Amino acid sequence: MDFSFTEEQEALRRHLTGLLDEVCPPDYAERCDNEGRPPREAYDALARHGWFGLILPPEYGGAGGSAIELAILLEEAGRHFEELAMWLFRTLTYGGFAVMLHGTAEQKARFLPAVLKGELSFCFGLSEPQSGSDAAALTTRAQAEGGGYVITGQKVFTSGMDISDYCLLVTRTATGGRKQEGITNFLVDTRLPGIEVRKIKTLGQRAIATTQVFYNDVTVPASAVLGAVGHGWEAVDAYLWYERLSLAAARTGAASAAFECALGYAKERRQFGRPIGQFQAISHKLADMKVMIEVSRVLVYRFAWLLKQGRASRHDAAILKLYTGEAYKAVADMGLQILGGYGYCMEYPMQRFFRDSRLATIGGGTSEIQRNIIAKSLGL
Ligand SMILES: Cc1cc2nc3c(=O)[nH]c(=O)nc-3n(C[C@H](O)[C@H](O)[C@H](O)COP(=O)(O)OP(=O)(O)OC[C@H]3O[C@@H](n4cnc5c(N)ncnc54)[C@H](O)[C@@H]3O)c2cc1C
Repeated sequence: MDFSFTEEQEALRRHLTGLLDEVCPPDYAERCDNEGRPPREAYDALARHGWFGLILPPEYGGAGGSAIELAILLEEAGRHFEELAMWLFRTLTYGGFAVMLHGTAEQKARFLPAVLKGELSFCFGLSEPQSGSDAAALTTRAQAEGGGYVITGQKVFTSGMDISDYCLLVTRTATGGRKQEGITNFLVDTRLPGIEVRKIKTLGQRAIATTQVFYNDVTVPASAVLGAVGHGWEAVDAYLWYERLSLAAARTGAASAAFECALGYAKERRQFGRPIGQFQAISHKLADMKVMIEVSRVLVYRFAWLLKQGRASRHDAAILKLYTGEAYKAVADMGLQILGGYGYCMEYPMQRFFRDSRLATIGGGTSEIQRNIIAKSLGL
């Protein structure tokens, strides 16, 4: 058993950290959050420096990196700004990984080089008003017509739809069987006529935010289908494993940033004649936060390793999602407590971690659903 990163992976992390320190410093992240503005400059800088090619195959100009390198990228991006990592992960998962896995030769030639250059951005449309945790109960319909398809329905929480070029849209093309059957995925151009996007105001994740999307008889060509017609659910399952890894890595990075903020504060802030970090009530919180982050990191890289070996399971993905999400939420909550009244003030960064972390136990599958998956794998 070897828990160390290779020299190349260490170098990768160093280069990335150097770049992100420059293009995504803390005041930049704060500005994007305050102004509700996507971190476009940092996203473009990552593209210019070739980071979008990290997991793409060499024949498309990529570095052919594995899930481990992907986790390093997202952990570091998340440490600098969680929403930058979220944007990056959506494009890499739904524009990169999904197209690599299920795209036709024509789709790969069209999308992968553009993803690599950062010219195309992607989002994911699965959740609907009546199907959240029960995602396979979706009803957005894609009807075959005139050699293409006509899409009708409503999605909710399609994050980044308004800043994306394509949405990996999960639709129903047939009814009558099990709910997981008859599902087909499309790569839909987000600017097609008939698409209406409304922004949703949320507690956190305010730089990019999320949207409600109406598909009013949207016509797409047959070439927009990604993967096999009627077998989209199996594909979504595969994408969600990459999503779980990406979210867990990004959130572990963000939790580390929240921890560093609280630790620095505990060493500086003095009450009763000494730094508050010398009170056991505070130092024990910091110790617990540190342990949670270390465990999260072990789970992230273990899952990345399992994915690389082709041995990951739903059970492992659920443990990863559950633990890292709950840990980030707890770290941000304790961090806010350590900053006292200043933690509650908008000019200190801790409130952003507190708000953003609240999504970690909800988005991409709630903690309750992860516990259900784990319990089922125990035969319960
Ligand atoms: C900011 C934000 C961004 C998002 N981004 C995206 C995105 O980009 N693309 C996308 O497709 N979706 C996205 N989502 C949707 C997200 O994945 C869903 O919100 C999530 O899956 C939960 O669904 P729901 O909100 O409908 O809650 P519900 O499914 O209605 O659940 C409500 C409560 O009931 C519990 N519950 C439900 N079923 C069970 C059960 N069987 N056992 C125990 N408890 C249960 C849940 O855990 C939860 O506590 C986003 C959501 C948010 C808030």
